[in-house]
Amino acid sequence: MTKVVAVITASTPGEAERQARTAIQRGADLVEFRLDRLRDLNSADIRKLAKSFGPRAIATLRSPPEGGGRPRSGLPRLAVLRELCQPGFGYVDLELEADAKDIRDLRVLAKRHRSRVIVSRHFEDFVGASKIRDTLEASAAVGDIAKAVVPIAHWYEALEVVDLARSWAAKSKPYVLIGMGPAGAVTRVLAGDLGQAFHYAAFGAEAAPGQLPLRSAVRVHGPEPFVVGLVGHRIGHSISPQIHEAALDAAGLPGVYLPFDVEASDLEPLLQSADRLRLRGLNVTIPHKERIASMLDELDGDAERLGAVNTVVVDGGWTKGFNTDVYGFRISLRALGLRLGERDALVVGAGGAAKAVVHVLLREGARVQVANRSASRAEALADSFDEPLDVVSLDELPKRGPWDLLVNATPAGMEGHDATPPVPESVIRKAAFVYDLVYNPPSTLLLQVAARLGKPATSGIEMLLHQAAKAFELWTDRPASIDAMRRAAKEALR
Ligand code: NDP
Repeated sequence: MTKVVAVITASTPGEAERQARTAIQRGADLVEFRLDRLRDLNSADIRKLAKSFGPRAIATLRSPPEGGGRPRSGLPRLAVLRELCQPGFGYVDLELEADAKDIRDLRVLAKRHRSRVIVSRHFEDFVGASKIRDTLEASAAVGDIAKAVVPIAHWYEALEVVDLARSWAAKSKPYVLIGMGPAGAVTRVLAGDLGQAFHYAAFGAEAAPGQLPLRSAVRVHGPEPFVVGLVGHRIGHSISPQIHEAALDAAGLPGVYLPFDVEASDLEPLLQSADRLRLRGLNVTIPHKERIASMLDELDGDAERLGAVNTVVVDGGWTKGFNTDVYGFRISLRALGLRLGERDALVVGAGGAAKAVVHVLLREGARVQVANRSASRAEALADSFDEPLDVVSLDELPKRGPWDLLVNATPAGMEGHDATPPVPESVIRKAAFVYDLVYNPPSTLLLQVAARLGKPATSGIEMLLHQAAKAFELWTDRPASIDAMRRAAKEALR
């Protein structure tokens, strides 16, 4: 059974001890003392930690070339390692390269004190499966547990590591194989599924990029962890990971939400690898919402109607696309008490989000006008609906209106984009209610102008939360805690 290890990187022994106690209370099976992160290292402190945590602790002195710190000890590495092998830690971490010539002697010493030896190797760059396999073989030959860590830049490298781990697990030799970095996080999530000896988790700050927080690691601990996530390109701005993590946590489910930053050409291979990655579902965002629709086995009504998918459910390799933006926007209108039957609405933008908004407004019985920077896209959007739609150029807008609702369905105002509202104040003035789909930042210039003009207005946060909750329910068959999601969103947007 995979053990959850909380990595303790405190700089003083007292703090390390305090953190280790808390980590164990919070569900860690073991703690790893990263002794290279202590400011000073001496025998008395080492013995004290071993005495307090003994079988529940791993003692690690990571060498600087493999990502370790440089504590003041005045002693050479070998002397410190000899100290670590004696006082009775459950495990001692030695390095295949740095400690090559001393590993066998140190292991004898460790065995005498009932410590098991982890032999580890941390690569600086991604290396292929055969090199990793050779390393695990070499480590297993001299240690009790073989450990290899390799940096991962792309999801398909993580898949290669997952496949290798699965084949290694069949040999029943205790091992740990980690893909480091955010793109490699899936290798950690699946530690239990892959029969790894340990799942190293962050206690406080990450000791290594891609580590899950201890709370998430404890949650996915078990034989059937699953992955849901966000697929898009340049998705760093998204707060979906925080929102869904909060919902998974509130429901106590053994799943983790991960970002998959992929190019269009990787979409199909990612979907085909879903089972190997234990992927149960995906959110889809810019720029893949439309492209992915043709790659799925089945589409739900709204997704089919709009030719745009923001949620994929994976079930035994079968992929079904949904558009929960439609649901999110509709529910948010209800929550705001906006009834738009026979009312006038202006939608600015003609992309995927605008399509979902127009679809809802038409179903509500609203009269809809669409304005967009490039007229041809607005025309194409209008053509895709059976109901009549009025396409208005941005220049013409000041002469039109008034509207009961103005919706910004462009990224104007979004973090990292032009902050200028997509329409001038003279247009905003003619709207009774302003709805900005942008949610990050929570208060855009458009919303500030609306507030100054005394107009009721909302950001896109409620739509985001409701579309997320629906996606969560589709993946898990469980209701999502909107309150937990809302708290997480607020925290993420602070
Ligand atoms: P798309 O890229 O599909 O479409 C963007 C649209 O905005 C295009 O019509 C584009 O015009 C227009 N546009 C882009 N930049 C500007 C600008 N600076 N000024 C005026 N128009 C501009 O994006 P989406 O439709 O998927 O998303 C649009 C926005 O909606 C994003 O900010 C997104 O975050 C938000 N959104 C919010 C959701 C929520 O739950 N709150 C859900 C989904 C989206 P052109 O055709 O000329 O390029």
